[in-house]
Amino acid sequence: VEEQLAQSQKMNAVGQLAGGVAHDFNNVLQAIIGYSDLLLANHRPTDPSFQDIMQIKQNANRAASLVRQLLAFSRRQTLRPEVLNLNDRLYDLSMLLKRLLGERVELDLSHGRDLWFVKADLNQFEQVVMNLAVNARDAMPDGGKLSIRTANVTEPEAARLHVSGMPPAEYVLVEVTDTGTGMASEILEKIFEPFFTTKEVGKGTGLGLSTVFGIVKQSNGFIDVDSKIGGGTVFRIYLPRHIPEVQEVPESTKEDTAKKP
Ligand code: ADP
Repeated sequence: VEEQLAQSQKMNAVGQLAGGVAHDFNNVLQAIIGYSDLLLANHRPTDPSFQDIMQIKQNANRAASLVRQLLAFSRRQTLRPEVLNLNDRLYDLSMLLKRLLGERVELDLSHGRDLWFVKADLNQFEQVVMNLAVNARDAMPDGGKLSIRTANVTEPEAARLHVSGMPPAEYVLVEVTDTGTGMASEILEKIFEPFFTTKEVGKGTGLGLSTVFGIVKQSNGFIDVDSKIGGGTVFRIYLPRHIPEVQEVPESTKEDTAKKP
């Protein structure tokens, strides 16, 4: 519990710092891009310096795109929690997921039947799934299988280990399993840290899993991971079950009862 708390605080601090630096840095980059444009306008494409100035501009643009990712990470998005049926939302995502995974990675979606509801921000939920899917894809360069399974779980053992205070007794589980490279324990220890990445420069920011961690924490859920070198990786996301209030009963159900004499 303390470890997860420390992690959350670290995330907040890094987020604020990164946001502040990113914002100022972006202004500097915009000036560089602006002056490059001015120079380019005064040079013919055949001038020897034209290509050099282009390089300056392109690199500044690249830096600006990294800064934008940082800003997106640190910005507190306005959350709109709503009652979600995760099976339906995963189904909606399946086309996008298939495109993201490419032809060599098979997608296996198996829905727990009669899944409980959770209350969460749809955008954030999608971000969690997409981030996990991107990592899974990157861990399976020679192809493989990504399985996403949902289930209702009551008082998982892990809940007692992870949640301080009175944990809700019931959770919805989203389990994301890949058949990829897996991770050594030294790597596994660090994956939720902001900016930790083993990917090439330009390919990974190291913000994917810390974002996932932040979102799951914010929803009072928790996250578990099992991984073995050569044996693939399983991420388990537990989100507290939401029991809808009477007002939240879908309109169609209400009409049905109203029509009856
Ligand atoms: P990024 O993807 O930008 O590197 P993440 O925070 O999403 O940042 O992931 C951090 C690191 O955790 C990755 O660089 C990779 O080493 C490791 N990792 C994450 N997911 C997996 C996975 N499914 N299989 C193997 N390694 C993974």
